[in-house]
Amino acid sequence: MDERLLDIARATKGFMPEAEGLALHEAAQRAGKLGPLLEVGTYCGKSAVYLGAAARAAETVLFTVDHHRGSEENQAGWEHHDREVVDPETGRMDTLPFFRTAMQAADLEDVVIGVVGHSIPVGRAWGTPLGFLFIDGGHAEDVALADYEVWSPHVVEGGTLAIHDVFEDPAEGGQAPFHVWRRAVADGFEPQSTTGSLRVLTNASSSAAAR
Ligand code: SAH
Ligand code: MG
Repeated sequence: MDERLLDIARATKGFMPEAEGLALHEAAQRAGKLGPLLEVGTYCGKSAVYLGAAARAAETVLFTVDHHRGSEENQAGWEHHDREVVDPETGRMDTLPFFRTAMQAADLEDVVIGVVGHSIPVGRAWGTPLGFLFIDGGHAEDVALADYEVWSPHVVEGGTLAIHDVFEDPAEGGQAPFHVWRRAVADGFEPQSTTGSLRVLTNASSSAAAR
């Protein structure tokens, strides 16, 4: 990946270790040949720099969905809270300005399309088949599974599904993304690679309609 963009990814707030970001970038660049990329969970745009660079290379676009109000675990008093992303006017989280700053710095505004909204209603109304889907939204059990259920049917045959924060050992982290990964395997997605907590699978089956 371009060194300049890598520096911007490094400087952007978020939850994407570099090795995982690079693995994400590589998988997305390949799958982007089959259709647009979509990310659930933009936050401040850190992973969107890696994915946006991949979209540019694959001559496609990245849609990235977030209501920008933070997950449960990002709220005040929780482990992943950052006071700087709270809007002083409203007292609520607002990561949208940080995302816009990152995309402008990365010169990716023509490739990355921010979709501001709740993942489930957006996914229900979605119609464009996806080459690549990255699930990195809310990590509560019901939220993570709902994201999988609404978005995974949009992945084309041969397309890629990536899931973040997958920890098999409960001592390492929450189990919801791991449960989503297990469900995806049961549904016929084939595991391709693991990099840290990032799991990449391909939609090898033609049974998307069965899901
Ligand atoms: N990919 C990011 C991290 C995402 S953190 C990075 O690279 O740093 C998870 C994000 O999911 C938060 O910004 C939160 O606002 C968003 N989110 C959680 N539940 C959501 C929902 N139901 N709809 C839309 N966004 C949601
Ligand atoms: Mg994550």
